[in-house]
Amino acid sequence: MRRTLPIVLMALMAGTVLPARALEGPIPAKPGETATAPAASAKPRVVIVATGGTIAGAGADAANSATYQAAKVPVDKLIAAVPAIAQVADVRGEQAFQIASESFTNAQLIELAKKVSALVKRDDVDGVVITHGTDTVEETAYFLDLVVRTDKPIVMVASMRPSTAISADGALNLLDAVTVAGANDARAKGVLLTMNDEIQAGRDTTKRVNIKPSAFFSQWGPLGMVVEGKTYWFRAPVKRHGTTSEFNIDGIDSLPEVAIVYGSGNMHPEPYTTAVAGGAKAIIHAGTGNGSVAGYLVDTLKDLRSKGVLIIRSSRVGDGFVLRNAEQPDDKYDWVVAHDLNPQKAKILAAVALTKTQDSKELQRIFWEY
Ligand code: GLU
Repeated sequence: MRRTLPIVLMALMAGTVLPARALEGPIPAKPGETATAPAASAKPRVVIVATGGTIAGAGADAANSATYQAAKVPVDKLIAAVPAIAQVADVRGEQAFQIASESFTNAQLIELAKKVSALVKRDDVDGVVITHGTDTVEETAYFLDLVVRTDKPIVMVASMRPSTAISADGALNLLDAVTVAGANDARAKGVLLTMNDEIQAGRDTTKRVNIKPSAFFSQWGPLGMVVEGKTYWFRAPVKRHGTTSEFNIDGIDSLPEVAIVYGSGNMHPEPYTTAVAGGAKAIIHAGTGNGSVAGYLVDTLKDLRSKGVLIIRSSRVGDGFVLRNAEQPDDKYDWVVAHDLNPQKAKILAAVALTKTQDSKELQRIFWEY
């Protein structure tokens, strides 16, 4: 504290917004990590890994808030466009990809996770920010949450408007993400997403709106907010993640195929059987209501299960959670329920879990715990 105080006073006199770490001192060593013990005045060291999306998008005109090309602006330009970042952290950028996020493949997910895993092992990295398209940022966030074994903050960031638009949201979202990535109090909270002043849990957050900045939502509420360079927390995740996860990207080199079949009235068996013929090892049934299965489809799903395909009941509703043995006798059919995970998140967890087990009871345990 003796060393910190004059710097805090100097910074306050200069009107500088201090990162949380500068106020709280060096990051304590965790088991398996080397104590970095930098000078108390040092800014947190944050790496911004860029993957594309609207946050790196550019439109022809400032009025183009929805018509533009995603994934155009390189990471160094993104950083240079927000000079306030330099007051918050020492940052450097790495361009991992330059893609719209609907084009992410499993191979790219794995490549990104391995890159992030390597970064967070470094003593000279305190946190990582990942710029991403909004379309699938919820999947990437949950994947990293499951497989990167760290307590260091990993913060996803995206925007709904390209940088060239009036009232673009990317600059503040990026500044907020760097703030959170450098904050001591963001450690061990799982992979996070900062957008629209909110700090969302990567596990829970989902894109709900396709056209305005308040696009992301979690049915359990955001974990906190970031306002004027300071984090405010209101809840913490209870599901396993990071250092408490049994999964580790360092041992994962491919992911098995998992297919989602969307529930509606008047369905046919072919979407299920075709997915399995195409290599799916598990089916996420995005059922109506409580993950319901039409009576005329039950035999198809029972038959696929008897051939070794895992059947996971999720819901197309979005909120709530699928109850085991309600609507369908899961114990009897040896099916799994996705708990509160939406179908796209259930797909990620199933793929990760299947790298370790094919056992339906183990899979159900994993769905309860993560
Ligand atoms: N579809 C593009 C993507 O996900 C742009 C959407 C966005 O980033 O908001 O990268």
